[in-house]
Amino acid sequence: MATKAEVNKQKKITTKKAANKKETPSSKGKLAHSELNAAKETLGISPYSLSDNEEYMNSDQQTHFKSLLEAWRLNLSKKINEAVSHLKTDPKHFADLNDRATQEEEFNLELRARDREADLMVTIDDALKRLHDGDYGYCDECGVEIGIRRLEARPTATECIDCKTLSEIRERQVGGYQ
Ligand SMILES: [Zn+2]
Repeated sequence: MATKAEVNKQKKITTKKAANKKETPSSKGKLAHSELNAAKETLGISPYSLSDNEEYMNSDQQTHFKSLLEAWRLNLSKKINEAVSHLKTDPKHFADLNDRATQEEEFNLELRARDREADLMVTIDDALKRLHDGDYGYCDECGVEIGIRRLEARPTATECIDCKTLSEIRERQVGGYQ
């Protein structure tokens, strides 16, 4: 399993190489979503079943989200390791330079995929740290409960839906002046 430092290192390298092709937030979200669903499926994790008057972020809920995040992390790190060994062992990355343009394009695609995965890994680690610190499940901006349903779909969410919507609007406005 890659440590955070390793992931950050890898991230730095790949970000540098793929700097001119910046990912949009939506493509990142897409990857996160498909990876999460794969993890849930592989490890048979079903959604948390809430009982009446249950205290928010009680130990059962914390355990549920910890298993979910750890399963997701494990699935992702497997994928990263497989991809890295594929890059190392696949002879087509070294020989046969006849179709160089296609090769380069393929390689760039690979790098961008790795970059997104490394980003996601850092985000998952941050969520696990928040769980450990007791901050998990509360909005970073306004402090309200993010809510079990939203966390189930986005276990790495750090903002409630209102704050998230606001910051997306702000991001778009700032982006417009660049
Ligand atoms: Zn909020």
